[in-house]
Amino acid sequence: MKYYSTNGKAPVATLEKAVVKGLAEDKGLYMPERIKPLPKEFFEKCDKMTFQEVACSVADCFFGEDVETEALHRIVCDTLAFDCPVVKVTDSIYSLELFHGPTLAFKDVGARFMARLLQYFLRKEGNGDDVNVLVATSGDTGSAVANGFLGVEGIHVYVLYPKGKVSPIQECQFTTLGRNITALEVDGVFDDCQALVKSAFMDEELNAHMRLTSANSINVARFLPQAFYYFWAYAQMKRLGKADSLVCCVPSGNFGNICAALFGHRMGLPIKRFIAANNANDIFFRFLQSGEYHPKASVQTLANAMDVGDPSNFARIWDLYGRSHKNITALISGATYKDEDIARIMRECYDETGYTLDPHGACGYQALKDGLQKGETGFFCETAHPAKFKEKVDAILSCNVAIPERLQAFMRGEKQSVEMSKDFADFKRYLMMQ
Ligand SMILES: *Cc1c(COP(=O)(O)O)cnc(C)c1O
Repeated sequence: MKYYSTNGKAPVATLEKAVVKGLAEDKGLYMPERIKPLPKEFFEKCDKMTFQEVACSVADCFFGEDVETEALHRIVCDTLAFDCPVVKVTDSIYSLELFHGPTLAFKDVGARFMARLLQYFLRKEGNGDDVNVLVATSGDTGSAVANGFLGVEGIHVYVLYPKGKVSPIQECQFTTLGRNITALEVDGVFDDCQALVKSAFMDEELNAHMRLTSANSINVARFLPQAFYYFWAYAQMKRLGKADSLVCCVPSGNFGNICAALFGHRMGLPIKRFIAANNANDIFFRFLQSGEYHPKASVQTLANAMDVGDPSNFARIWDLYGRSHKNITALISGATYKDEDIARIMRECYDETGYTLDPHGACGYQALKDGLQKGETGFFCETAHPAKFKEKVDAILSCNVAIPERLQAFMRGEKQSVEMSKDFADFKRYLMMQ
């Protein structure tokens, strides 16, 4: 399979190049040239399959031309070492719980898959040099990437994060790992971390010294595998006899997660329509209403992993639907919620159903509650475990959210980090010694 750039000015790339490079030369996002549909029989029998079997069938369509079947299926099964169950919240609303992975958020799926696919390509190349992944984080991406790559031979990860600006629960998920993960505590803000990473990729001397790559969320190996759990959600809803008029709602920030669902739809996944739920960062919501896309600076909200003012994957959605506002609005609608709405929704859902939402899932739940029509059944992505936002959730619900054991284990670990100034010369000197 070849991958083209959404900007149309870069040469087509192999899967390997798209995975190693992340972004195309013209700064566009890679798209597969073809999206293969799954056969009708698959949808007839998927309710009798396991999550791993469902995901392997989907993976064959995306990656089957470029990765040997046995290796691909091993990558899929290693990635999905945990379930993504659908859980009933009300008669017509179900939660697709994507927080059962190591760092309690959906990004685990993409990060784990990418780590293993990258390792596959490195081994095939037979080039003995280690690859170094540089990732800047304001919290959640660092933990998913670090844990996704933990123990993957031949790859070393450097996580750069702003000192004192990451919550203790987030910090422990990438500073206590050791092994092939190094946490760099930068005396600055997130943008400084990002700038250090960008400078490193552009520095010739450094690139001659070591192989560098990014694990950015726009990477095809991170975003496409997210389609796996939408097919699994369908299979589970079919098993419940609830799959006939299904609506899928995704709390969205950079729009990678919903984009994977839309690829699934293109492959034949029988979902009737989609809802993109936004927080106060409503750029996509406004696009749906007006047909005009106006990025703007993001504002901080309770659902901070969705604080994105210029969602990268809009380019993929725009491309997928032939650059037509009409095609997009025929399938996708939107919703937007302010912080006071989010807090109220969390309380109402807890009181009425007993279900504890995190601030991101809250947007998804309410968008279904507001948007479901008669006869429809909806599921929303519960994108993170509420314990990841414990202080906020406890305060809003006047409760004491239990911290899952795997998160407690991180919190018991010993913090190891390297302190770093925000000066690129220091960062480069450090990397040159590695
Ligand atoms: C990253 C993230 C989102 C947003 O997902 P996108 O793919 O960027 O739209 C939503 N919720 C949580 C908890 C996240 O970590």
